[in-house]
Amino acid sequence: MQLPKSRRRQKLREKRCLYPGCGKIFFGIHISKYCPEHRQDRYRIRKRTKPEDVNIKNQTFKHSYTEVVTMVMNCALEGCNHQFEIKIYPRQYIYPKYCPEHRNEYRRIRHLQTIDREDLIEQMKRESENFELEHVPGKNEVEHTDKEAIGDVA
Ligand SMILES: [Zn+2]
Ligand SMILES: [Zn+2]
Repeated sequence: MQLPKSRRRQKLREKRCLYPGCGKIFFGIHISKYCPEHRQDRYRIRKRTKPEDVNIKNQTFKHSYTEVVTMVMNCALEGCNHQFEIKIYPRQYIYPKYCPEHRNEYRRIRHLQTIDREDLIEQMKRESENFELEHVPGKNEVEHTDKEAIGDVA
């Protein structure tokens, strides 16, 4: 295929790869953001919701009820044996997993402190960071872009 003569080749210029932690100089057209290596699909940076995101305070309860039923659940908090009732609705699969008292994060932390499970507190705090980057670079190198995924890799 031959390009029409009038169409000028886009000028390559020195660019610095924007991939977190890379910074390599490469030659690219003005919209290029990443060096050839980081242009590959597997390096594509996208923010995704952690799979367990929805399960931090809730649980996914797969069921096939076609009418509302009431169920008794056990509080998911380590060391708590409270039970609580929830109403299960058709085609709704996300339900609270803690007893009413422990739906409050502060209360959960207090409870874990009393049973001496600092490790679970740490874990809980990590899980409540909603987003993570794929191919996580060093924390300070993360670009603070908006919530949109960076989808326009040249
Ligand atoms: Zn790069
Ligand atoms: Zn509880």
